Amino acid sequence: MLKAYKYRMYPTKQQEEMFSKHFGCVRVIYNWALEQKIKTYEQDGKAVSRFTLNKTIPTLYEDMEWLKEVNSQSLRGATLNLDNAFTRFFREKTGFPNFKSKKNPVQSFSVPQYYKVDFEKNKVKLPKIGWIKTILHRHFDGKCKTATVSKIPSGKYFISILVDDGKELPDKQDFDENSAVGIDVGIKDFAIMSNGEKIDNPRHLNNSVKRLKVLQKRLSRKQRGSKNRDKAKQQIAKLHEKIANQRNDFQHKLTSRLISENQAIALETLTVSGMLKNHKLAQSISDVSWSSFVTKLEYKAEWYGKSILRIGQFEPSTKICNVCGYHNNNITLVERQWQCPDCGASHDRDVNAAINIKKFALNKQNLIGI
Ligand SMILES: [Zn+2]
Repeated sequence: MLKAYKYRMYPTKQQEEMFSKHFGCVRVIYNWALEQKIKTYEQDGKAVSRFTLNKTIPTLYEDMEWLKEVNSQSLRGATLNLDNAFTRFFREKTGFPNFKSKKNPVQSFSVPQYYKVDFEKNKVKLPKIGWIKTILHRHFDGKCKTATVSKIPSGKYFISILVDDGKELPDKQDFDENSAVGIDVGIKDFAIMSNGEKIDNPRHLNNSVKRLKVLQKRLSRKQRGSKNRDKAKQQIAKLHEKIANQRNDFQHKLTSRLISENQAIALETLTVSGMLKNHKLAQSISDVSWSSFVTKLEYKAEWYGKSILRIGQFEPSTKICNVCGYHNNNITLVERQWQCPDCGASHDRDVNAAINIKKFALNKQNLIGI
């Protein structure tokens, strides 16, 4: 079983410089690889593989000698990350992979192997960088897989180490209508379940998001290049970090509960973006939020032998009466309640959708293109 362990790192000034070289070089390779993929596709209609790209990387050294200063495995890790971005794009339709910018809030590079962890001395040794002070507050046993070093906007560094503990994953448990739940994404609530339960974001998280809007408005009024603007930016970075932590905490609790209470969880494969077109901030927050929630559900399901059932995206989940199957085209987005003109059942819009998601998943039906 694979588990990730995340630790705070405290690099020296010199090591910070090496980190920043790695962030930069990995970004260059990522963008180069993305460009190659797009070009090859446009010219020949073909996909260029990661292995072909990796073989070409050394030829770049001639023009960009500084690439040699960093761990060559981290450079190859960039093409793997790009492959993963494409997988997510095809599976979740989350948007075509973007070119990475120096201004991205989180900078990272991966270290696929040849690093060492010293629990006694609280140090991690990375190729080309050396031993870095790291607070290894949790011990792990197993085989170290890829590690990822990241820097967040407030300036903190972390390393996340993927560990294979060698244990087999449990067999999938049986499920039926009574032990499965359907979940729908909400506009107002975070999620709605087929059993009628609605889950809102916790209040402290909502408060932080409100505060973020205030701070961003304030930032927009500060003069470019001024000290006050830098200060405002730093405040926003800190709040982003707090929101990420609060959201993570909330999602961990929720996913653990859902996994322990149900044998199977049905979800719609979807993009939240379509629903929130007019609220850019809200959109970016909920996009990240939903996909990281699904990721947590998926790996916890693996750990505990539970099933995640995915159905294709289909608008009618909100429009079909879950009792008689009547297709009600007259529902608008603002209507929270509706009564089925055919069988007379009254529905809460979101709960009805969640019930449909569960039903369709259990029937192994896919209503794409209905
Ligand atoms: Zn009906």
